[in-house]
Amino acid sequence: MLNATVIRRSDLSSELIILSVRPDAAVKEFIPGQYVALGLLGSAPRPDSLPPETEIVVPNNLIKRAYSICSSPSNRTELEFYIGVLPLGALTSRVAALKPGTRLFVSTKITGTFTLQPVPPQANLVLIATGTGIAPYMSMLRTADTWTAGRHITLVHSVREGRDLVYLDELRALAARQSAFTYVPTVTRDDASWQGQRGRVQKLLETGILAPDPLHDHVFLCGNSQAISEMEASLTGRGFVLRTKTIQGNIHEERYD
Ligand SMILES: Cc1cc2nc3c(=O)[nH]c(=O)nc-3n(C[C@H](O)[C@H](O)[C@H](O)COP(=O)(O)OP(=O)(O)OC[C@H]3O[C@@H](n4cnc5c(N)ncnc54)[C@H](O)[C@@H]3O)c2cc1C
Repeated sequence: MLNATVIRRSDLSSELIILSVRPDAAVKEFIPGQYVALGLLGSAPRPDSLPPETEIVVPNNLIKRAYSICSSPSNRTELEFYIGVLPLGALTSRVAALKPGTRLFVSTKITGTFTLQPVPPQANLVLIATGTGIAPYMSMLRTADTWTAGRHITLVHSVREGRDLVYLDELRALAARQSAFTYVPTVTRDDASWQGQRGRVQKLLETGILAPDPLHDHVFLCGNSQAISEMEASLTGRGFVLRTKTIQGNIHEERYD
């Protein structure tokens, strides 16, 4: 049942973990933006620092949840995930206790439609993430096919505190060498050490700091459901259309909660 091993773990705060996992067999081909189920047994330990669980968890049951893959599909032997720990979350409170060498479950099925496949190659991309919602964009940005000729890519990442900007160095370096890329990190909590943009991503749309154009841009929204709904309302008011199974829209959404 457990078919993969944790090979690296990096803790950015007590609530945010980057996890690198090696499945026993290379995973099937996947597309940047897709997700996979990770799982641990109910008997897997939780850190003592977390509050005790209030719900009964069956020790032999596999607790499975969906996680977007952060790494590029060019590497199918090692997958990277960016996981937010919920102190009473059934799976993530157990993820909080993972160490290099620990076994876990990675589904062999990788799926999802939150990808660049339906986007014309000449369209610009505006990728907007709250919190761990940056995960699918990291896979896209780390993949050569995303960088079509003439396309501009803007990535907006809204987090609570500056230290939650886990990919800051990689993304600043990318912006420095790639003129077709703009990185806009924004911090919502009062964090004196943060010198950059402040406020919720919805505010960036309202104040015009972010002004996507429905004729040339496709907007991707990922993470917190409430923030996505607010941004969707603002974007549809500007002529954007939500993509669904039957409608070829230019707003694409992945809701985590
Ligand atoms: C397609 C998809 C991709 C996802 N990718 C990621 C990812 O890359 N990284 C990641 O951290 N999460 C991701 N998630 C969320 C993830 O699947 C779990 O829902 C989350 O990790 C909580 O699992 P849990 O078992 O710890 O909590 P649960 O025991 O399932 O939930 C506890 C409670 O918290 C609520 N809740 C669930 N998620 C959140 C949240 N993010 N913030 C606040 N409350 C929440 C639930 O509604 C529930 O009430 C993704 C979800 C989907 C649908």
